Amino acid sequence: MQQSARALPPLDFDGLRPPSPFVTEQHALWCARVRDFVTREIEPNLSAWEASGTFPDSLYESAARAGLLGMGFPEAVGGNTENADPYYRVIFSEEMHRPGAGVVFADLATHWIGLPPVVQFGGQELLDTVARPVLAGKRRIAFAVTEPSGGSDAGALRTTAERRDDHWLVNGSKTLISGALRADYILTAVRTGAAGAGGISLLLIDAASAGIERRIVPGLRWYNSSIGSIEFRDVRVPGNRLIGPENKGFAGLAKQFNIERLSGIAATLAMSRTALAEAIAWAQKREAFGKKLVEHQALRHKLVDAVRSIRAAYAYLDQCIWRLQRGENVVADIAMLKVQATRTLERVGREAMHVLGQHAYDGSNRVERIYREARIFAIGGGTEEILDDLAARQLGIF
Ligand SMILES: Cc1cc2nc3c(=O)[nH]c(=O)nc-3n(C[C@H](O)[C@H](O)[C@H](O)COP(=O)(O)OP(=O)(O)OC[C@H]3O[C@@H](n4cnc5c(N)ncnc54)[C@H](O)[C@@H]3O)c2cc1C
Repeated sequence: MQQSARALPPLDFDGLRPPSPFVTEQHALWCARVRDFVTREIEPNLSAWEASGTFPDSLYESAARAGLLGMGFPEAVGGNTENADPYYRVIFSEEMHRPGAGVVFADLATHWIGLPPVVQFGGQELLDTVARPVLAGKRRIAFAVTEPSGGSDAGALRTTAERRDDHWLVNGSKTLISGALRADYILTAVRTGAAGAGGISLLLIDAASAGIERRIVPGLRWYNSSIGSIEFRDVRVPGNRLIGPENKGFAGLAKQFNIERLSGIAATLAMSRTALAEAIAWAQKREAFGKKLVEHQALRHKLVDAVRSIRAAYAYLDQCIWRLQRGENVVADIAMLKVQATRTLERVGREAMHVLGQHAYDGSNRVERIYREARIFAIGGGTEEILDDLAARQLGIF
């Protein structure tokens, strides 16, 4: 029997997330908290931030006051381990991307990848002077791996750190670093040993050190002028700023990349939902050739195809998180799902733009912006070829 349309959830942002057996009431409360913050502090300002090209530093402290920055970090450094399961991170990323605020997220959450190694390996002094202020929103940290000579082959990076008595001497350059211009600290991947992945270490560098020059990356037309390049010229870094074992930094990088990929998956699926919800609402009211767009079979098939892709990706995401929580190795699946999720966004974004027609460009919705951002997610956090190769190795294909 055909179900009444009224019994179905609306195909809005929430209705497009298929129900999950793993999402609890606690997760729903967290979702409400993040959504409240985004609705109050971010959404009303997005147009103004886009026009000015940036957003205020005070947003970090507001986010900390709302209990968002410390998510998953130990209480001893001002964090909150109650919300340590991966769904909290996924929900945070989804809610930040619901209005298409990917750029704000990229800066605001960069401590997710920059801070954990400092918390794990830094001594008490770094916990007090770096981790605590970052989680309180008073200081900022960036994570710098990519270099002008390449980002995919992280094991080939060229920035060097030479040991000199009680300090390191750093020379080289990084580029496309999220939050580089706002950062007080830069967790930097440097070459301390022989060529290859086995010669890489992590150094925590004060961004104000002599010999550091930071510049905006001009080609990136996001409304955040904080993504930048960093030059290091004979920068002296105290010996105790080595984070983790010397020449074993590559393993630390890999761990952080997984966190980045999980956030990217959540981001792209959330943006897919926003774009599709707009397209469905428009297709249900817009008329062409005397009938609603949804009454044209070719267009409603596009919408169904988009719903199918989103549901399939979420089923895979739920399964990955379930396995992650059981302690399984899901590196290959997270890599494959990141590719699938970004492809979903590219496809859904394209079709949503298509259905909206001129409406996509009249400034009344965020689909055009989401469509522009889609490609970035297919590059940052590992490109398709790199992730497919990673999956092939993990799966034992070669
Ligand atoms: C918005 C944004 C924010 C970013 N933020 C950060 C950040 O905070 N910190 C940071 O360190 N980096 C950051 N990055 C950089 C990002 O990690 C790199 O862009 C990414 O790793 C790819 O490196 P690349 O751009 O140098 O491409 P390249 O490595 O030059 O690759 C170019 C192309 O060649 C392909 N390719 C490379 N090797 C192979 C191969 N073996 N087989 C097949 N194809 C291959 C790649 O898939 C890609 O399509 C950011 C990037 C963006 C766009």
